[in-house]
Amino acid sequence: MTTAKTCTQCGAELALARLDAMRGEESGVALSIEGMPAYACAEGHKRFLTPDFPARLIDSLARAKAADLPVARKKGLFKKHYLCPGCGGGLPDEAGTHATLERALELKGSAAFSTTLSVPLYHCASCGVAAMRPGEEIASALMKAAAQAFQAAGIPPG
Ligand SMILES: [Zn+2]
Ligand SMILES: [Zn+2]
Repeated sequence: MTTAKTCTQCGAELALARLDAMRGEESGVALSIEGMPAYACAEGHKRFLTPDFPARLIDSLARAKAADLPVARKKGLFKKHYLCPGCGGGLPDEAGTHATLERALELKGSAAFSTTLSVPLYHCASCGVAAMRPGEEIASALMKAAAQAFQAAGIPPG
């Protein structure tokens, strides 16, 4: 249990730490992470608990996201259009509101920490349904938002 880990940047000993809130945003999808467990040295260099920690985090968030929200249908190869899942009418280009999803995560036996994901919703003018963009678009925006958050917090990838 006492495998001493050392900082790859300065060689000092790493200790378990909780990171301050960090945030990233891409295509209107915003992610905040608070109190994420990680390793840190006395110089403030940081490292993920495990190399696959960021991938697991994104995975859990992508799976947890918005199970109940209606999803827009995508149409068009070059110019994308989005259709209302309720009535098939066109959805506006601008998001009307955001759905905020708060979730506590525990990865691989790590301490629990909290995440807040904000997803833009597009409101149908005809029937009033508020739909999010298709899952793969949210997932790709989420990945970029998470990368931004980690970069802002100074954690090198991997
Ligand atoms: Zn260091
Ligand atoms: Zn509609």
